[in-house]
Amino acid sequence: MRRHRRVKILATLGPASQDRATLVRLFEAGADVFRINMSHSSHDAMRERIRMIRSIEAEYKRPIGILVDLQGPKLRVGTFADGPVDLPKGASFVLDSDPTPGDINRVHLPHPEILRALRPGHTVLIDDGKVKLHIAEATETRAVATVDVAGRISNKKGVSLPDTEISTSAMTAKDRSDLDAALNEGVDWIAVSFVQRADDVAEVKKIARGRASVLAKIEKPQAITKLEEIVEISDALMVARGDLGVEMPLEKVPGLQKRITRLCRRMGKPVVVATQMLESMITLPVPTRAEVSDVATAVFEGADAVMLSAESASGQFPFEAVSTMNRIAEEVERDPLYGQIIASQRSEPEPTGADTMAFATRVAAENLDLKAVVAWTASGATGLRIARERPNMPVLALTPNIDAARRLTLAWGVHPLVTADARDVDDMARRACALAFSEGFAGADDRIIIVAGLPFGSPGATNMVRLAFVKAETATTA
Ligand code: PGA
Ligand code: MN
Repeated sequence: MRRHRRVKILATLGPASQDRATLVRLFEAGADVFRINMSHSSHDAMRERIRMIRSIEAEYKRPIGILVDLQGPKLRVGTFADGPVDLPKGASFVLDSDPTPGDINRVHLPHPEILRALRPGHTVLIDDGKVKLHIAEATETRAVATVDVAGRISNKKGVSLPDTEISTSAMTAKDRSDLDAALNEGVDWIAVSFVQRADDVAEVKKIARGRASVLAKIEKPQAITKLEEIVEISDALMVARGDLGVEMPLEKVPGLQKRITRLCRRMGKPVVVATQMLESMITLPVPTRAEVSDVATAVFEGADAVMLSAESASGQFPFEAVSTMNRIAEEVERDPLYGQIIASQRSEPEPTGADTMAFATRVAAENLDLKAVVAWTASGATGLRIARERPNMPVLALTPNIDAARRLTLAWGVHPLVTADARDVDDMARRACALAFSEGFAGADDRIIIVAGLPFGSPGATNMVRLAFVKAETATTA
């Protein structure tokens, strides 16, 4: 089973997509990676979904990626004694360390580290920015704010702090226990929410110790100022437009999406564009023109993946949402302008052996109009550097390592496949041809290009490129 597009589809699971039959339909419709959101999932529910996905993977003999998204420090106000309060513009409102229920004048902010970090002038957004305050005075235990945008606050509403840098780590006790449970299940990707700095990612990587790759969700302005360091340390990024659009003016999000996508492409790290891509499909079987255009923009920009959230997790049309995304992606990638736009953002190879070989592979493949690039890759690194070149033919990544194959499901244009390591150069060429044929990427007498590192099984040494003819008789000898 092969896809006819380069961009990948990440589908979030939830109440609308929890039984095996639905997961099968979503996978067949185009979902390459499934996301389990720990804001809404118990450990048992997570384990059950993972088992289903692994059994579907075994049935279809295709690697499927699993991404577990940690909730992160979701900040909330306390409760109110007599129900919701309506704050008028210009009023004073106090956030303090007193746990007694609040009223029209004050509420408990159950995060001492935040009270310590608030300074006069800082903005406080409540309930996804519906109410906006700024701090007038602040002590260690009490911050007096002024209401800039009036509105209603009720029990436990979320709090966003666009300009307060919080000193504690991005991980809560719940995140630590969720991370542990996810790593025990052998998931492929861990997403870290509300990353503020490279250290937030480093902390998760230290715990993961290579058992899962780590994706940084960019949803805070603090992360934007340190983007390069964060991309450097992360295995992948997400443009998390939901919270990013709360913490920053909405009109800044499209430009940031382009900036983050281009930076990730340059650094060869997979980048996911997320949130509200087909939002109206939560309740309707067809998207709006604007949503179709939004998905298309991410595809034209060369993002590695586009994501569905509530559309596939809790909407009424999860299957239609995935197949709509699939159709948009296929059509955009067939557009005569697509190749030109992708190529215009291609980065120069870095002066390394791996990038030089990846560059040479793409140039040769395009010059000879070859049917496919076949990359032998132990860790997946060669697969990612080839994807960075954004070649205009499919990339088949062959690896003996199921974990590497699963992680590559997130990478642009890569069709990962698990196969035993090649014995020697002839075996490598013969099996590359046979698999390109049997997976439907090349026909008899087509030419492909193979890129690999010798000796086999030693990661990090891409040093060989070879052209090969696919022969009809090789199809049976893989
Ligand atoms: P979330 O992250 O769905 O976990 O909030 C994505 C976003 O904020 O866009
Ligand atoms: Mn978010």
